[in-house]
Amino acid sequence: MGATPAIFDIVVVGGGLAGWIAATAAREQGVSVALVELSPRPEGGGNSVISGGVLHANLDDPRAPPAAMVEKIRHATGGEVSPAVAEAWAGTAARAVEWIEAHGGMMADPGDQPYRAKVFAPVKPTVPGLNGASYGTARFLRRLADSFRAGGGTIVQPARAIGLEPGAASRWRLALSGGDTLDAQAVILADGGFQADAALVRRHIGSDRLHLRASPSSVGDGLRMGISNGAATAQMRGFYGHLLHRDALTRGDLWPYPILDILGMVGLIVGPDGRRIVDEGIGGVRSTNALAWSAMPDGCWLIFDEAAWNAEGRFGETPCNPYLADEGVGPVSAATIEGLATRIGIDAAVLAATVAAVRADPAGAQPPRRGRLSLDQPPFHALPIVAGISFTFGGLKIDGEARVLDTADAPIEGLYAAGGTAAGLHGGPDVGYAGGLLEAAVFGLLAGEHAGRATAA
Ligand SMILES: Cc1cc2nc3c(=O)[nH]c(=O)nc-3n(C[C@H](O)[C@H](O)[C@H](O)COP(=O)(O)OP(=O)(O)OC[C@H]3O[C@@H](n4cnc5c(N)ncnc54)[C@H](O)[C@@H]3O)c2cc1C
Repeated sequence: MGATPAIFDIVVVGGGLAGWIAATAAREQGVSVALVELSPRPEGGGNSVISGGVLHANLDDPRAPPAAMVEKIRHATGGEVSPAVAEAWAGTAARAVEWIEAHGGMMADPGDQPYRAKVFAPVKPTVPGLNGASYGTARFLRRLADSFRAGGGTIVQPARAIGLEPGAASRWRLALSGGDTLDAQAVILADGGFQADAALVRRHIGSDRLHLRASPSSVGDGLRMGISNGAATAQMRGFYGHLLHRDALTRGDLWPYPILDILGMVGLIVGPDGRRIVDEGIGGVRSTNALAWSAMPDGCWLIFDEAAWNAEGRFGETPCNPYLADEGVGPVSAATIEGLATRIGIDAAVLAATVAAVRADPAGAQPPRRGRLSLDQPPFHALPIVAGISFTFGGLKIDGEARVLDTADAPIEGLYAAGGTAAGLHGGPDVGYAGGLLEAAVFGLLAGEHAGRATAA
């Protein structure tokens, strides 16, 4: 860090969308701010950079009426969303998008679906591989980093924050892995979640036999720092992710795309015992979580018919059909369900009974099945699947100002969390998902503004 003073009003941990917005918004209040980022890359090395850049609100336009946004996410999470967090999110979403545009974030021309009304431009294509540096979100983060530095902000990079304790001269002392420390009146934790830490994933989600469909940078440092200072946690079991071909575990050309969610919604998802594990019709994020929570997460199959392969299989910029077959991992196929079962090593009688029960009475099947089923037209197909985890919903409990809450629901003075580090917006029995980028933008902005005001006072 050279001659950099080690005492700041505010220190931000993590330079993703949440961290860079927080640092900029805080700096604009005239206080001294340092941002600590693990990656040596100017735009940081987290999920924001490799994301699709879609600023959606639970698959809607982020400028939708706030009351409707709250109601939709309340319903999607089965009522488990934090009311204060949902209201802050809905009430700030449009302003956060305006803030991004006013700070040089370029948006693509709106698509014909509401959830693509605000997408960072140039738009990152949904193709295999993680190269995000030349697309809109990364460009925006580089722009924020440049203006933060030009405006007097301090960037400590590459450096990993590993510990936080109450300070002597300031309220907090943050320890970095190289041995340096930074003192601050307020700390904003924005390190992106804990999806890349196998032990934490095992403990909270139940298995680590998943594929990390994400940057490897977020290992739960912010979560640990919050907990060690008395923070409460919430929604630890759910995560945002997609269904992937199982060979993504060993092959980089099979993720983050193609995803098998759309195909999954018209097929059946069965364990190695031939029994269904989820109501497939609810959606890909729900099915992906069910897979992770099942008895054998890396032993499940997606079963569907020829009509689905030729319709839902063709969905998206990297459609499963023909991409998977072209890459040598196309579906296993057979003229009958029994023949298919034999080919994939599942008991033929059990799989045939599973299929017969759903065909006869989808709503009465176990689990009940909603939505269209495409399982009539031979040949029948099976793909081996695995849950791809992109970011954990669980994290530090916050209030509507992004202040971290303790176990008595009281704000911990000078401690904030935003983006993937914070909890409260997603989850519930059907694993409702509000959109990770908008969450990062909203709570990054609220944390930066509140911490800036509080430390300037
Ligand atoms: C493939 C993919 C596509 C996605 N597409 C979309 C999309 O289109 N729309 C959407 O809404 N969401 C999308 N998401 C989710 C979205 O990317 C995340 O929810 C969002 O980027 C989280 O932002 P963040 O700032 O909290 O975390 P990140 O962007 O992950 O930033 C965290 C930063 O903290 C740094 N860091 C970690 N630990 C430390 C430490 N100890 N010390 C210092 N620095 C640290 C990391 O290097 C990183 O730069 C996608 C995710 C993936 C993986």
